[in-house]
Amino acid sequence: MTFKDLGLRDETLRALEDLGFENPTPIQAESIPQLLSEERDLVGLAQTGTGKTAAFGLPLIEKIDFSKKIVQGVVIAPTRELGIQIAEDFKKYTKYIKGASIATIYGGASIETQAREVKRGAQIVVATPGRLNDMIRRNMVKLNQVKVAILDEADEMLNMGFKEDIDTILDQTPDEKNVWLFSATMPKEVARIAKTYMVDPIEVTVGTKNAANTDIHHVYYTINDRNRYYALKRMLDFHPDIYGLIFCRTKRLTQEIADKLMKDGYSAAPLHGDLSQSQRDHAMKKFRDKTVQILVATDVAARGIDVNDITHVIHYNLPEEVENYNHRSGRTGRAGKKGQSISFASGKELRRIKAIERVIKLEIEHATIPSGKEVCEKQLFALIDNVKNVKVKEEEIGKFLPAINEQLADFSKEDLIKHFVSAEFNHFLEYYDGARDLNSSVSDRDREKADRGDRKARMTDDSKQRFHITVGTDAGLNKGAILRIVCQFSDISSSEVGRIDLFREFSFFDVDKKYADQVLNGMADADFNGENFKIQLAKSNGGGSGHSSRSGGGNRRSRGGSNNGGGNRRREKSSFSNNRGGSSNGGNRDRDSRRRRR
Ligand code: AMP
Repeated sequence: MTFKDLGLRDETLRALEDLGFENPTPIQAESIPQLLSEERDLVGLAQTGTGKTAAFGLPLIEKIDFSKKIVQGVVIAPTRELGIQIAEDFKKYTKYIKGASIATIYGGASIETQAREVKRGAQIVVATPGRLNDMIRRNMVKLNQVKVAILDEADEMLNMGFKEDIDTILDQTPDEKNVWLFSATMPKEVARIAKTYMVDPIEVTVGTKNAANTDIHHVYYTINDRNRYYALKRMLDFHPDIYGLIFCRTKRLTQEIADKLMKDGYSAAPLHGDLSQSQRDHAMKKFRDKTVQILVATDVAARGIDVNDITHVIHYNLPEEVENYNHRSGRTGRAGKKGQSISFASGKELRRIKAIERVIKLEIEHATIPSGKEVCEKQLFALIDNVKNVKVKEEEIGKFLPAINEQLADFSKEDLIKHFVSAEFNHFLEYYDGARDLNSSVSDRDREKADRGDRKARMTDDSKQRFHITVGTDAGLNKGAILRIVCQFSDISSSEVGRIDLFREFSFFDVDKKYADQVLNGMADADFNGENFKIQLAKSNGGGSGHSSRSGGGNRRSRGGSNNGGGNRRREKSSFSNNRGGSSNGGNRDRDSRRRRR
């Protein structure tokens, strides 16, 4: 079936051609002919991503007399973002229709400007309920000539407490109008609206009622609450090409997680209701343009997001309302593409996972958080892919090549590959060296014990010097952070660092004796998170020379150099991969800036 078969006016067909819409989606094919042939009410059960905007927009446009400058159609949507999106779509559909005018009405922007837009002769008004009500009260909009009233994402509007606003708005419209209601789910409250305002509505369902899209793979990971953020980072590292949405429970947490991710070098931005409209627009623009890979959002703020290629939706916290799981997940797996919906659940949240499974009528697969080694492998091959596919800018790089070739003349191809990969990748390997298992079935204590045993096993002689530092776990120190600090300040490779023992207020670590002075001098003015601490030789000496079993990647200075170049370059490109050898308490950027200050 084509759009022509549906009986749309020529101007609309031309506009659809421009948009590249060839065939109607199932919901369009089902609803458009029925709505055009009769004056009927309609209830559409459909997720976003099914083409529902055109399913109601195109028949609405057919019913409007664009020679008249009065409001004949009203669309109500839960958020400004969604309202703007719908209005923009309508403007595209009507671009060849003479005199067509669409007004967009939402809070947080000038009410006078919006009133002027209506007054200029808008035939269709797309609005959020609160502001529309306000404008009706102030006589800025009249709905007494409305032929069709459309409620989009009705379940969400009711969740957001717009029940009374909707009632008041619909009361302003003529009795003989038609109501077309779209909703992803059909809770009692939506059914009540349908019953109150509609007569014998056509029912259109895309997919099964309340069922999730089968293009989405649903997985969950069991974690301890305190590891939630680390589990998130691990998943992001495991998916270097992610273009994703992360949902958090509150506005505050949304901001906090976005801040932490940005600090840790990820390409992320927050989206929540405490931001100004222009900040939200800016975040959305960056996400749409793909200059930002990850949007951290609240449920409400994410309602209007209409982006097609989202690869992953991550539920940092499970949704408060089980039904919202579908809304969130429906942001991926759109337009026939595959997507993944990832949840993190602590032990006490497992019951919620079961409740969600009942609603979506699909199993959410339990999966294991990848190990540090698996993440490294994934990142390494992403790097190799990047090398294979990178666009070589011959002109710019050409002038440096003779000198570079001369410097590398003695390297074989194998050595060159080894060196380039190591230069780019060593810091990442170090960060994940000995990384903890974040799956909650293995306790942290067991893991720590295993780590210690492993390090002990690698140390068998007494060629090590043991150091004592006056900073410990109370200050947030962990093994990775010690490795980073030692390497950064004393200019040795992490492979020279042996056993590490952490206590609440102090810690010990071993380094090969030949570096003892270098470490003592280098770390004399070292700091951890901006706090200075003292270092001294420990009374009891360290273990052995196990470091020989670990291959190291050159000295720290050369690594630091490659971090600056490689990390930043990649960050600019789009992917955030590999530029965060450290956690928030010692990421590369922190380390580099600290070094520059010294
Ligand atoms: P919606 O469910 O209205 O948010 O639409 C999801 C996406 O599908 C939007 O990006 C639309 O532009 C696109 N779309 C809608 N209808 C069609 C169609 N018939 N052919 C191709 N793309 C479509």
